[in-house]
This record gives sequence, structure tokens and C-alpha cells, in this order.
Amino acid sequence: MFRSAFPLGRYAGVAVGAHWSVAIVLALISWLLGESVLPASAPGQPALWYWVTAVVTAVLFLASLLAHELTHAVFARHYGMKVKRITLWMLGGMAELEGEPPSPRADLVIAGSGPVTSLLIGGASIGLAYLTGDVLPVLAGTGLAWLGITNLILGMFNLLPGAPLDGGRVLRAAVWKGTGDRMRAVRVAALTGQGLGVALVIVGLAETFFMAQLTGLWLAFIGWFLMAAAQAEVTGGLARQQLGDLRLRAIMDPHPVTAPGWWTVEAFVTHDAATARRRVFPVVSFDGQAVGVVSLAELARLTPQQRLVTRVSDACRTPARFAAPEDKVADVLTKTPVRRGTGLLLVVEDGRLTGTVSTDDLARALELSALGGQHVPA
Ligand SMILES: [Zn+2]
Repeated sequence: MFRSAFPLGRYAGVAVGAHWSVAIVLALISWLLGESVLPASAPGQPALWYWVTAVVTAVLFLASLLAHELTHAVFARHYGMKVKRITLWMLGGMAELEGEPPSPRADLVIAGSGPVTSLLIGGASIGLAYLTGDVLPVLAGTGLAWLGITNLILGMFNLLPGAPLDGGRVLRAAVWKGTGDRMRAVRVAALTGQGLGVALVIVGLAETFFMAQLTGLWLAFIGWFLMAAAQAEVTGGLARQQLGDLRLRAIMDPHPVTAPGWWTVEAFVTHDAATARRRVFPVVSFDGQAVGVVSLAELARLTPQQRLVTRVSDACRTPARFAAPEDKVADVLTKTPVRRGTGLLLVVEDGRLTGTVSTDDLARALELSALGGQHVPA
């Protein structure tokens, strides 16, 4: 989701990036502050100053989001987890941690430290706004107070007890500590996360339709995101428990029938496509580089005339997903729901195709481990 993140440098040794949707958030907050919040709380100031204060406050708000995520990252590293990077996006920040917290205590500290940071920033900003009320320009004080209140709300919202919110992870740590069963804790936290998501969607939609408040849509969107993320949490947790360290290399098809990108569609259809017992093919270039994926369904949309003149590489439109042979199956499953259909993962080494993994292969790996079976390369 965050491949296109714009790099913002490294802080405390952690790479930080911003997804383009952050620009929308920055613009929305600046607009909200500059057009309504600031003029309403401190009337009679020059228009330019409203906007300057609004933009500075919005940037400070993003910085406080970053501080929240950095705290997660620093504590995660303290407990031996790897921190891939932090990405700021539309719904806040996201620290990509690799591995699992080693103990309930680590889980609690890593999860709880973020909201605590937000609450501390919130308290400090409000305190500062109050103490410097006589010294600072009125607009600066108002911006500071808004920053404080927003951080307090952010900290409290994140403490709601449903995964993937921080509060859900705090709950997970508590259930883990209480029962000694980590998977049970994951399921409890994810279940409350789904419940929380449903509740937010209902409240958000009710606010939109009955009170004509457009902010309700935003709430509903966050709820919908929570529901999906909570589901992924369960899938990912189960997959990790079942599949352990299993790598893609063990389950991939190492000799897939490939579609030569330089052939015409007609040539491919009358030769390999007709005899291979599959619907989706990896497309390779003349020098063996993986180009993408093409399905019979896509080729069938071309007219007979087009098939004669179109190259396979030009017909392959399915956005391809690439992975490395040493990637963990559990990680791939967390990102890719197992659905029967035309999904095909290209396993690539130095750009060259070394195998393919279909959704059936993923499902097979899961079912085999549920049966306690061995993974025999296909
Ligand atoms: Zn957090």
C-alpha cells in the first residue's frame, strides 16, 4: 500500500516516509484551522496570519503523529523487533514492525507508549498555551491549544480497546498475560476491533444521514478500515502460527508455463495457452525478466484481429505482485487474502522469474499445515 511513500529522512535510525494522502490531510487541517477554527477563536486578525498559523499548526500536528509512531518504533527495537519504516498517511502514522513482541510486557510497552506520547504532547501543549497566554500572540496560543486538544483526542482514540488500534494491543497484552495463550489474545483483540469498527461505521453513517454532518463519513471510513484491519490481524496471526518460517520457495511452482512477452497473442493462444491447464500466466521478456501476469479472460477481450497484432507483453494489464523466494508465506498471506481466482504472485530473483505462487498454492500451504502435513514442492 505504501510503495509510493515519499522519503522524509531518518529519525532515531528509523526511515520515515509520507504517503501522498498526507498532503490531503495537511490541506484539510490547514483549511479547517485557517477558515473556521482560528477566525472563530481569535477574531480580528490579518487574514494572512490565520493561514500562516494554520499551516504551521498542521505541520506540527504531523510532527506529533510522527513522535507517536517513533515512540512505538524505539520501544519495539528495544525489545529486539525490527523496524522497517514509519509511514505517515491519511489515517495517521504506521510503524511497520517485523516479528512479534517477545512477551506480554513488551507488547504492552510497545503499544502503550504511542498513546502516552500523544497524551503527553497534548498536555504539554495545553499547559504551554495556558502559561504563555500573556506573552505569545493570541493566534499562536490558539494554534497551540488546538494542537494540544487534538493530541489528547488522538491519544484517547488510540486507546480504544480494539486491534489494530494501540488499545487493542494493550488488551491483547493483558489477555496474553492472563491466559498465557497468545493466539487467544490476538483473536480477542481482533474481535473487539471488528466490533469497534462496526460501531464506528454505524455512528458515522447515522451522523451523516440523520444529522447531515459530512464528518460522519470520515468516521465511517475509519470504522470500515478498522474492520478490515482487524480481519487481517486474525488471518495474519493464524497464518503465522500455522506456517511458522515456511518460505515461498517451498511452495512455489518452480517451472511455470510462461507467456513470452514478445509473441503475438494469437501465437500464444494457439500454442501454450491452449494446452497448459491454467488460466493465468506469468509474462516474461526475451531476456527472462518477469514483466507481469496475463489471464485468458483478458486475452478473450481482444478481437481476433487485435490478437494478430498485439504482443503478449502489451496485453498483460493485471497489476502484478512480486515477491522474493525467501519471503515468508505467512507475511504474504497477511497482505493477500486467499481468494480463488486469477491472482498470481511472481517469485522473482534479480528481476528474473524463478517461480509462481497461485492463490491455490497459498490455500494448499495453509490447509496442509492445518493437517500437520509436509510441504512438498509442487
Ligand atoms: Zn500508535
